[in-house]
Amino acid sequence: MSISENLASTKQRIRDAASQHRRDPSSVHLVAVSKTFGPEAVIEAADAGQVAFGENYLQEALEKQAGVASLRPDLVLEWHFIGPVQSNKTRPIAEHFAWVHTVDREKIARRLSEQRPSKLPPLNICLQVNVSGEVSKSGVAPNEVLPLAQAIHALPQIRLRGLMAIPEPVDHPERQREPFALLRQLQQHLTEAGIPTDTLSMGMSADMTAAIAEGATMVRIGSAIFGKRDYAK
Ligand SMILES: *Cc1c(COP(=O)(O)O)cnc(C)c1O
Repeated sequence: MSISENLASTKQRIRDAASQHRRDPSSVHLVAVSKTFGPEAVIEAADAGQVAFGENYLQEALEKQAGVASLRPDLVLEWHFIGPVQSNKTRPIAEHFAWVHTVDREKIARRLSEQRPSKLPPLNICLQVNVSGEVSKSGVAPNEVLPLAQAIHALPQIRLRGLMAIPEPVDHPERQREPFALLRQLQQHLTEAGIPTDTLSMGMSADMTAAIAEGATMVRIGSAIFGKRDYAK
């Protein structure tokens, strides 16, 4: 299957899941996760209409962005950083991405705001929440989401758009929904505390249907679009 065919069937899965749960399919945005794939794969997806791309590794992402720009200066893409953010790497992230999904500390948010170039619109950010307890190291604990959001939501050069999670993989679709439901409830708490947001970044190739059932507004899909990743390359 080609990237454009995979993209079409992924979009169909999104539409099916949305209508099954009485949601407007246009409320679920697709971020194509292109990590480990080269600029040509990004261009192929872009030519099939994809605009938003997600990357986990900063160096790889910067090289890929430069590669795409030199091959195809006509393309205007939206880059999402979805990997762990090290505090000494915030400047290039603030300069080269439109979104960061993985903010889990006040210090990172402050640096991103300070380092976001003033000629660019504010950086869109999501707080990454650890919804799986001890099995995950990344993400803020659920009971720390509100204090963190309160500390950072007024920073000038970032916009707090919502919450993101990467739950521990489970096979059963009903069990997959539990951590996504928790993320939705945490977003509701923020709204009630006067910090409304519009984004729930949740769902990957294996659990996107469960995430959409629980209100995902952004799904991050890699292997279903680009194929199996080969980290050895
Ligand atoms: C790799 C990755 C994805 C995509 O995963 P697939 O299973 O290939 O769809 C989504 N989100 C994050 C944070 C990732 O690291």
